[in-house]
Amino acid sequence: MSQMCLTFLGTGTSVGVPVIGCDCEVCLSKDPRNTRTRSSLFIEYKDTHILVDSGPDLREQALREQITKVDAVVYTHSHVDHVAGFDELRAFCWKRDTPLPLFASPFCLGELRNMFPWAFSKENTFRGYIKPDPHAVESSFKFESIAIEPLPVEHGRTPTNGYLFSFPQENYRVAYFSDIKKCSPEVAAKIKKVDLLIVDALRYDDHPSHMTVAEALTFAQGIEASQTYFTHMSHEIDHETLQAKLPPSIHLAHDGLKIEPTLV
Ligand SMILES: [Zn+2]
Ligand SMILES: [Zn+2]
Ligand SMILES: [Zn+2]
Repeated sequence: MSQMCLTFLGTGTSVGVPVIGCDCEVCLSKDPRNTRTRSSLFIEYKDTHILVDSGPDLREQALREQITKVDAVVYTHSHVDHVAGFDELRAFCWKRDTPLPLFASPFCLGELRNMFPWAFSKENTFRGYIKPDPHAVESSFKFESIAIEPLPVEHGRTPTNGYLFSFPQENYRVAYFSDIKKCSPEVAAKIKKVDLLIVDALRYDDHPSHMTVAEALTFAQGIEASQTYFTHMSHEIDHETLQAKLPPSIHLAHDGLKIEPTLV
């Protein structure tokens, strides 16, 4: 591995692809890029390992990618497809001497406490249980040498963050907006011309809380990222068909895809 590696653990929408009981062409496709577990990203930089969200497929994703270490978890929001694998984080806690740092909005942390009360309880002294170290974040913070900025976006009624990850030593920036309908001009300005943009492109038809492919394309062109990857896709999207229609700097992500930027 080079100094930095970003792995798409999952690139699917909340039900995943294939969808249970569906016999559409994409769900029956033999193209492995059309199999999408729930969206999540793994960031490795030098000795730092950051997991973005802990969805219901976390166990399978971690085994597939042979992830043995997570130093922190950053949460976009509290929808079930981003938090349901919370208890799988136990396996990463067993190897640590200190609780596992979790970074999330105050709302999302509150929801995690409601959903997994035993983990946050003062009585959580059991060996083997997840040991969280919660941090409510509303503005830029640093984890090791990575600067991380939560950026609020519109995504239905649930408060949701996109994140800007900046690697100052490398002059490299990644924007991760897995669940978004739109964002303010201020947020868009903060991620203008990022090196890598990862953005929600749910499907072709309009959706109240996610970008369509057309909206994601317009958004990506406005941001002028060097490279853009679409994620959080549904079974309406056939990888090969859509990829063939996209401009050269815009790609569909797929599960297991690794990006190892050439750093200068
Ligand atoms: Zn989602
Ligand atoms: Zn289907
Ligand atoms: Zn969501």
